[in-house]
Amino acid sequence: TLILGLESSCDETAAAIVRSDRTILSHALAGQEDHHRAFGGVVPEIAARAHSDLMMPLIETALADAGVRLDDLDAIAATAGPGLIGGVMVGLVTAKALAMASGKPLIAVNHLEGHALSPRLVDPDLDFPYMLLLVSGGHCQLLRVRGVGQYDRLATTIDDAVGEAFDKTAKILGLGFPGGPAVEKAALSGNGAAVPLPRPLKGADEPHFSFAGLKSAVLRAHESGQYRAEDIAASFQAAVVECLSDRLHYSLSRMDERPTALVVAGGVAANMAIRAMLEQVAGQYAMRFCAPPLWLCTDNGAMIAWAGAERFAAGLTDPLDVAARPRWPLDPDAPAARGAGV
Ligand code: ATP
Ligand code: MG
Ligand code: FE
Repeated sequence: TLILGLESSCDETAAAIVRSDRTILSHALAGQEDHHRAFGGVVPEIAARAHSDLMMPLIETALADAGVRLDDLDAIAATAGPGLIGGVMVGLVTAKALAMASGKPLIAVNHLEGHALSPRLVDPDLDFPYMLLLVSGGHCQLLRVRGVGQYDRLATTIDDAVGEAFDKTAKILGLGFPGGPAVEKAALSGNGAAVPLPRPLKGADEPHFSFAGLKSAVLRAHESGQYRAEDIAASFQAAVVECLSDRLHYSLSRMDERPTALVVAGGVAANMAIRAMLEQVAGQYAMRFCAPPLWLCTDNGAMIAWAGAERFAAGLTDPLDVAARPRWPLDPDAPAARGAGV
């Protein structure tokens, strides 16, 4: 089965063709860093316009690189949310037009499910159920993945997402955009014990995450003029690692039927210090640790095509009038965490 996957929910425009046997035939991607750098963050209106300029050429590239025609595809998948609505609509409407013109089924993919299933694209031995730490620009959640479309959210952030905290830290320290990789690089030449920063919710008798206090402390440390940017970056990253580890221990140590694999996904999964900590935590619970390769961690079309392939195999396709959704939790029935609605 051949699936085309389109991604346009944030500031990456991407199209990829994936076969259900896990072969990635092509993946074309265009970042928009240059469009947004001057603003120090993603500007939704600019992003939507860039997606609409870039999407068709990228689809043509993906088809050409794979050596397939529209007719050869079995289904067309696109991110239908959550994300910046203007961008999501560009990808979804393009997929609808292609589906209508070709008579192929449409698959509306939840972007978070794209991240959540991405490790299975490269690891044929990763079976359900597994524990998933989803850490990205907009989310920080611990989930039990029971199957396609079957997620139990065990913990979520009560304020900022981890990626957001990395991006804000980079902005405060003037390290540039996008922030995550810049903070990680600066941290390499800094001392993680140099700056005293808080560990929000560490030791708390609840499973959730919190990062807003950390960001404010970074701002205060920077404004004090006492510390090097590298030391603040390293201390921030050390605090994030410690918080994530503490929160994971809280949930994992309390599970009766713990899945045998710990998986990390989302853009922040590209961070090497976080990966190293997760590998160690997994070892402590005799769990297998799985992480997608770096290019598959941040937004891309292959993860959307793969989620589309998994949904297609389960008989899940969508009508052409399916709506784009700015907010779309993976577990719509779960009660909102502490009323935060995240
Ligand atoms: P979401 O998936 O929640 O809708 P998004 O699509 O914007 O959000 P991703 O593309 O999955 O997020 O991830 C981007 C985030 O990952 C950014 O916040 C970025 O700073 C962060 N990130 C990327 N690389 C690294 C890294 N090496 N270390 C830490 N954070 C990183
Ligand atoms: Mg991006
Ligand atoms: Fe993402």
